[in-house]
This record gives sequence, structure tokens and C-alpha cells, in this order.
Amino acid sequence: MSAEPDGRPARRTPPRSALVVGGGVSGLVAARDLAARGLRVTLVEAEDHLGGAVGAHQVAGLVLDSGAESFATRSRAVPDLLDELGLGERVVYPNRSGSWLFLPEGAVPAPDSGILGIPADPTAPRLRAALGRAGVLRAGLDRRLPAFVGMTERSLGGLVRARMGERVLDRLVAPFTTGVHSAHPDDLDVDAVAPGLRRALREHGSLGAAAGALRRAAPAGANVAGLRGGMNALSETLVHDLERTGVKLVTGYDVIALDRDPRREGWMVIQRQPRFGHKTAVARGELLVMATDGAAAVRLLASHEEELQRFAPEPGPQVALATLVVDEPHLDGAPRGTGLLVSEDARGVRAKALTHASAKWDWVRQAAGPGRHVLRLSYGRAQPDATAVPPEVSLPDDQLVRLALSDASTLMGVPLRPAQLVGADIVRWRSALPRAGVGHARRVADFRRALAQLPDAVAVGGWLAGTGLASVVADTRAQVRALLAEAGVPDDAAPAADPARTPPTSTPRKD
Ligand SMILES: Cc1cc2nc3c(=O)[nH]c(=O)nc-3n(C[C@H](O)[C@H](O)[C@H](O)COP(=O)(O)OP(=O)(O)OC[C@H]3O[C@@H](n4cnc5c(N)ncnc54)[C@H](O)[C@@H]3O)c2cc1C
Repeated sequence: MSAEPDGRPARRTPPRSALVVGGGVSGLVAARDLAARGLRVTLVEAEDHLGGAVGAHQVAGLVLDSGAESFATRSRAVPDLLDELGLGERVVYPNRSGSWLFLPEGAVPAPDSGILGIPADPTAPRLRAALGRAGVLRAGLDRRLPAFVGMTERSLGGLVRARMGERVLDRLVAPFTTGVHSAHPDDLDVDAVAPGLRRALREHGSLGAAAGALRRAAPAGANVAGLRGGMNALSETLVHDLERTGVKLVTGYDVIALDRDPRREGWMVIQRQPRFGHKTAVARGELLVMATDGAAAVRLLASHEEELQRFAPEPGPQVALATLVVDEPHLDGAPRGTGLLVSEDARGVRAKALTHASAKWDWVRQAAGPGRHVLRLSYGRAQPDATAVPPEVSLPDDQLVRLALSDASTLMGVPLRPAQLVGADIVRWRSALPRAGVGHARRVADFRRALAQLPDAVAVGGWLAGTGLASVVADTRAQVRALLAEAGVPDDAAPAADPARTPPTSTPRKD
């Protein structure tokens, strides 16, 4: 056998098998693309269900999204995947009534153009209440400043402050990013959370024009789209397709160790089933895709490449979603449009955002019926100590439901009594909203360079790609393509193996 320059044995034949650790959307998409190139794929997921942050729950008889409910329309990444999966016809756009902000003075309409709370026209009358006269005047300067002003700022906060001033930052952009990314704009890398924004600023000469151009580039002018029936259909359809193509899906097994397979070229993982006496099992694959959260990925991979240890990410904020189904005909008129983002300075409300799901999505309104409404409140602002659990998130479920009902009354401006509550559910997420801090892109590049020291392995997922399905899907597919190219898998490889002919392995399958 010949040898690579680094002394590793050169592979004689292209790999025939792959192992994916983590069954969120990134793991499912990786498994799909590997299987499509003819590889025998095993995917191992710690939880009993697949899909990670894209899943479903039932509240008052309605099947709703328990995590992600939409995707950004700024690229074709998600729409292309949905088309492949036959879900393209189910793409829907949110109601055009727009969203609101909850500021210390009360509820005001949010900018209805632009992105991330950055208004395309900061002088629009709709924004006077939020910005005040002085704020509007300062924001208007953006049009007169030379394009280079703010260009060297790496954080979203720095860029907005330099171009449009403090008021736009605090009143419009910060409520948006704390609601969506659980982070202040000063702590977010502008290129990670708003890809293309700085380029558009260079082209259009002002931040407002850049934000407007990115918004107009989205189909139907909407920044986001969803699926009729919910985004959970994406996970469900990916899983069905993987089962159909013979991918071995192992759920309920936590991967606790990663090793090189001593018997043949490739990787093996040790899995442990936390219930039923911590039973362990082994799964193997010549190629490895690590699709877990950042902490787990670094812990497992660093046992082989110590340098990776320094990339262990800070724990992301813990968040809780309280979904309430209430009977209140006064909400039929959608008094706060599709929902509100709450300013950190607002008093009397502890939620950071509220989505009026039955006003935002027609399919939810139809499923709920007249007078019945679905309100989704999110809790868990970033804490100064990244390891601290936000106080609301640690409340017991019944107390959090009571708090959510009281917050919903204040935010919607419509009193809601416990007797009107038809159903409620609390879903808690940890490590699901990793923060793309300043310098994120460089850290990811450094991590991936260090990871390249390990043969036939890549890492994918929101902690690297940035939060959001558009980023995660695009990055996962690019990484898997690169892995296959590097391993010499031919483009026209045979379709995935027939499940009936997949040879048995030592890994128990969980149905
Ligand atoms: C509440 C919420 C709402 C969101 N809303 C939106 C939205 O509306 N639009 C949008 O675009 N994005 C949204 N997001 C973000 C989006 O859902 C995520 O960016 C994306 O789903 C991340 O996918 P992933 O595969 O990287 O990670 P995850 O979905 O977190 O999957 C990682 C998987 O790895 C598994 N795992 C971890 N450790 C191990 C181990 N040792 N062994 C085996 N398995 C392991 C985990 O159990 C998990 O299933 C939301 C996220 C949350 C939490």
C-alpha cells in the first residue's frame, strides 16, 4: 500500500460506509447526501426521536412545531431541499400584517422592511413611535454617510450603531436578536447572522438600502417561509426517506466515545443507552460526520486531536418555549400582527418574544378554528454568566404556564384568564441556540483546519454554520460534498443500498 505525505496509508478503494453522529437536521441531511452517493450509512442519535430542534408536539389536539417553525428565504438551500423531498408545494409565507415591538412605552409596530430589525427606511412614519424624533434624525444620517463608515465593524451592533445610531440598535435590532438569537447585537458576528449585508452596503451605499435589497431578494418579500403543517414535516420526511433508502437509524443511544476502527480503515463509536442498564453498542463507518452540538463534538473529536479542545464552545443559552392555546375571539383581529419582540428594557414582561402562531400562519388558524388562538412565548435571555440557567427557564412547568398567560395578556393588550386556556405545553432547549460571536467565521475556519488532521471526518451543525436552517442545510451539504470529494467517492456512485440487502452489524436498531 502506498502512503500519503503525512505517513497515513493511502486508501485503495473509495469508502463504502459512513457514520453520522447526531440526528438533528444537519445529521439527517448529511445521511441523505451520503446515502445518495451509494454509501451504507449508520446514524446514531442520543434522543428517542430524530430531528433535534425541528420537531412536533401536540397541544389541545393541534400538532404544532416544538422548535423551529420557519426558515430564512435568503438562499435556495432550504427550498431546494424541500423540492427534493416533495415538500415544495407545502411552502407557505407568513401573514403580511407584520410584527410589533414591546418597548418600555408599550407596543409599537416593528419595521416592515429590511432585515434583523434594521429598517430599509428608518424615517418611515411607522417607526416614529419606536425611535422618537432624535432617533429618526440620527438614523436618517445613514443615507448621507460614506459607504465605508461602519465597514470595518465585525459585530452587528457595531455596524448598526455606526450607521444608524444607538436608538435603532436598542429599539429595533436588539429586541430582534435577543428574541431570535438569544444574544445582544454587540455579541453577534455580522457576517454570520447577516450574510451578504456588508457586501450589499458596499454596493448600495447605505445600511438601510442594503437591508432593503436583501429583503427584496427574498421571494414574496418575506424574510421567512414555513411549511403547511409545520416545519416538523421536514424532519419527518427526511427520516422516511432515509428509512426507504436503507440508512440505519439508531435512536436512544448517546455516543460516549469515538475511536479508529482497529480492524479496518475507518471510525467506530461506542454508544450507550442511558436507560435499560446503560447497554453499550458499537457502530462503524469509513467516513465520519459529527453532527451533534459543539460541546459533544469537541469532546468526542478532541480525544483524537488534542488541538481541537480549544474550540469547545461556550454553552449556548437555555431557552423554554411556552405554547398556549386559548379561546379569545378578541384575538381574531391579530392586534399585534404576527407577534412581538420584547425590548430588554421593557418592564412587567419576562418573555423575550411572542409569536401569534394562529395569526402568522393560515394553516394554524384553520386548524385551531374561529376564536381559538395559538400563542408561543419564548423565555431565556442570555445571562452574563454563560453557564447560568435563566430564572424563567428553571421554573416548574405549571408556574411557567401561569407566567406565560400573564405575559401574553400584557403583550397582546387583551386580558386572558386561566379559564380561557384550552391547553399548554412547555418545551425546553439546551445547547440548541449556539451563539455566532464576533470572529465566528475565523474560529470555524481554524477549527476545520485542525479537524482536517483527522482522516475522513467533518463536523457540521448550527454551532459551526450559525443558527438557522438556511445556514445549517447549506453548510452541511457543502461539508459532505467536500468529504466525499476528498475520499474519492465518484460523482456517479450507485444509489443507496437496498435495505433488505444491508448486512447485519453489531449495532442494535431501535424502532
Ligand atoms: C426553540 C427553537 C426555535 C428555532 N426556530 C427556528 C426558526 O424558526 N427558523 C430557523 O431557521 N431556525 C430555528 N431554530 C434553529 C434551528 O432549529 C437550528 O439551527 C437547527 O435545527 C440545528 O440543527 P442541528 O442539526 O445543527 O442541531 P440539533 O437540532 O440540535 O441536533 C443535534 C442532535 O445531536 C444529538 N446529539 C448530541 N450529542 C449527542 C451524542 N453524544 N450522541 C448522539 N447524538 C447526540 C442531539 O440529541 C440532537 O438531536 C430554532 C431553534 C430552537 C431551539
